[in-house]
Amino acid sequence: MSKTVKAVGTSHAASRPSSRTASTTPSKSTTVTTAKKTETGSATRKVEKSMAPASAKAPPRKGAAKRTATEIAAIFARFAAAMPEPKGELEHSNPFTLLVAVVLSAQATDAGVNKATRALFACADTPQKMLDLGEDVVRDHVKTIGLFRNKAKNVIALSQQLLRDHNGEVPAERDALTALPGVGRKTANVVLNMAFGHKTMAVDTHVFRVAHRLDMSLGNTPEAVEDDLMRIIPDAYLFHAHHWLILHGRYTCVARAPKCATCPVADLCRSVDKSLPA
Ligand code: SF4
Repeated sequence: MSKTVKAVGTSHAASRPSSRTASTTPSKSTTVTTAKKTETGSATRKVEKSMAPASAKAPPRKGAAKRTATEIAAIFARFAAAMPEPKGELEHSNPFTLLVAVVLSAQATDAGVNKATRALFACADTPQKMLDLGEDVVRDHVKTIGLFRNKAKNVIALSQQLLRDHNGEVPAERDALTALPGVGRKTANVVLNMAFGHKTMAVDTHVFRVAHRLDMSLGNTPEAVEDDLMRIIPDAYLFHAHHWLILHGRYTCVARAPKCATCPVADLCRSVDKSLPA
């Protein structure tokens, strides 16, 4: 008999090691202000709950966000069959250029970041070379990306900090990564996963939406969704899970008019947003 896995939608762990344990501190408001560093570097931010699709904001349906372990394994088996080796789409040549690319990608598309970083990384693919380039030139390279002024500042500041504190290397520890300017939890999760092979779950708007539509979480913050996914995804699928979910959300389970007719998990989806031809 299959085990039922309940997604604890309102969980929000006080500390989040890469374990699957979720705590349960409810978050009730639609907007919260957090006094922590953002991915783009300002001291305080508003975390908008607008990431949630309309169906996620509605009161949960009876039985929603409940998946058996067998169902969850089946969903990820489909993703694995469709895309055995999913890859991130940010171009990079080493952990440092990956880190910079992820920092630049906040509230920007990967395609837009790649367009800007091709020339930047050709001149500067190490912290020292980035410092030698200087903030003005970095800013000029990334001026087509949103929030480019702040991001250029952060790229220079994190390069300085890597040279000062880490011998010019990108650290493989979450705390050391999030201590860098412009690096928040999501960026650290991407770098830990892609550069160092850790099983992490970076929750962006696509992962957030797909997790709700597939009844894997009712969490109303990225952190709550991360906790749920880390807890319920079978270990064998966890390393690639972030990329499967992000690519599924980016290309198939898109926000408006999801492409359900070509979805590999359509028969397992109970979302009110599901739409199949009659
Ligand atoms: S069936 Fe549609 S709504 Fe459900 S996961 Fe697939 S694309 Fe998304």
